[in-house]
Amino acid sequence: PNRPNRPDVLVIGGGIGGLSAALALTRTGLRVRVYERAAEFGEVGAGLQIAPNCTRILDDCGLLDEATSLGVRPEHMVMKDAVDAGELTRLDLTDLQHRYGFPYMVIHRSDLHGIFLRACGRAGVDLVTSSHCVAYENTGGGARVRFADGRTDEAEVVIAADGLHSVARTLLVHDDPVNSAYVAYRAAIPFDHVRGNGVHEKDVVVYVGPRCHFVQYPLRGGRMVNQVAVFESPKALAGAADWGTPDELDRAFDGMCAQIQKGLPLMWRDRWWRMFDRDPITNWVTGRIALLGDAAHPPLQYMAQGAVMAIEDGWVLAEHVGAQRAARSERTSGVDWEAALAAYEAVRPEHCRRVVTTARAWGELWHHDGIKRLRRNTLLRSRDPYDYTFTDWIYGPTALTPEQEPELYPTIPLGTENG
Ligand code: FAD
Repeated sequence: PNRPNRPDVLVIGGGIGGLSAALALTRTGLRVRVYERAAEFGEVGAGLQIAPNCTRILDDCGLLDEATSLGVRPEHMVMKDAVDAGELTRLDLTDLQHRYGFPYMVIHRSDLHGIFLRACGRAGVDLVTSSHCVAYENTGGGARVRFADGRTDEAEVVIAADGLHSVARTLLVHDDPVNSAYVAYRAAIPFDHVRGNGVHEKDVVVYVGPRCHFVQYPLRGGRMVNQVAVFESPKALAGAADWGTPDELDRAFDGMCAQIQKGLPLMWRDRWWRMFDRDPITNWVTGRIALLGDAAHPPLQYMAQGAVMAIEDGWVLAEHVGAQRAARSERTSGVDWEAALAAYEAVRPEHCRRVVTTARAWGELWHHDGIKRLRRNTLLRSRDPYDYTFTDWIYGPTALTPEQEPELYPTIPLGTENG
């Protein structure tokens, strides 16, 4: 291509995963080019929760102040029963910040994406849009990508951050997204539309109910509220093509508490999302091509760790690149890529496997009905809100090397979802 400065690394996909990885790698002194399929960089959707294992990395990148100015630091995360609105358990997010050293934050997706996009611009990342990657190949000493319009490009390494339907993933495994029959509606609207509806102004609240749940939290300095309504679609279960329609949304929440009924009419009703994940894989690297973010580990959203894991991936890879980097020569960046990619693959797949499988279990627990629901409620009500055994492995410092005996850690946390 005619672009200046042959890059050391190509990143395919300019979502939160791709941009944050590009930034982290650029900070180690590498030249990075990002290719995005869309005509513009951007994010669809509403709010995003970012836990301390993410705000710690934002701080390391010098971006925490900007995130704080755009987001909200909620006071509590409260879990309630969706049927009777009774409180089940909570996390005190001020105490949680003391424990982990960094805040729990909620932020508009496009604001977080914009923070990374601007930081990439400042750092000199070469940002290219309208580039639909259709093929990846190793070249021996590097990797090459091909775009739908016939262009090609190559570099020492290609990072595939191309999301749930990753093309690069097919080099490693022939799997399909796993379909959960759950559907999400979202809304980010002025807070004034819900004030007085029993909404918590400073908390993340999740109402868990039979085959459904509802999430509410403030966004943009409290001027907006984020709502997510998720339910099992009978039509999706039956394999029908017109799954998840607004009539299904309303029916799914029939009989749920008044706070939810007041929030439902405000959901965006012209667009809804099917919930997918994929079975975990342990191999993310082939030669000089490495998966990152949803391409490697798309989760169900119940742990609110999808974007967070993607950000951790890039940060961990960059830490290992920094450790494996000798001086740049005329021909190479000086990185021992075999060592850096092996170190990345030694730690990230196992952590993300645990998050993906825990998210599935956590979702099941949320959606119980009948006696299982009552048992869950009893258990959650008896939980000590200051017991952090279930969150240490997620919110603690992002590991650079594999943890010893990871299965000994409890995995069901209190984290809720997102937007
Ligand atoms: P994506 O965001 O999918 O980005 C992939 C990018 O690659 C896109 O820009 C796409 O256009 C581009 N691309 C794709 N294919 C190609 C190609 N062939 N060539 C070039 N470019 C390509 N996570 C959290 O951490 N906290 C939350 O609270 C949270 N809430 C969520 C709520 C819902 C309802 C959902 C569905 C998800 C939630 N997540 C949350 C998960 C999070 O949104 C994702 O895990 C995260 O956005 C993944 O980022 P990514 O960059 O890996 O992939």
